[in-house]
Amino acid sequence: MKGECKYCKIPNRELNHNDYFEKISLWRDYVSQGIFKFVKGDTSLKNLENEISNEDKYVYYHYFECKCGKKIKIGFCIRSSVPIIEYIK
Ligand SMILES: [Zn+2]
Repeated sequence: MKGECKYCKIPNRELNHNDYFEKISLWRDYVSQGIFKFVKGDTSLKNLENEISNEDKYVYYHYFECKCGKKIKIGFCIRSSVPIIEYIK
């Protein structure tokens, strides 16, 4: 794929909760390094793991923007083992 960016690459296979937590932890580092911008989310980025473990909501979404210009949505569903990680327009 032309112009694929190593920072915001999404694995091309079935995703699981480990992928979700891996990406969150990686992308949190990217945010502190200025590679990603944290746009908005259902919880703060800092306490995300704690907050989603409260299970107050069914799905938690967080939005990021990579320095390459791509916007990404990442979602964690409490009752599903498959996270949502996708580019948005
Ligand atoms: Zn990127």
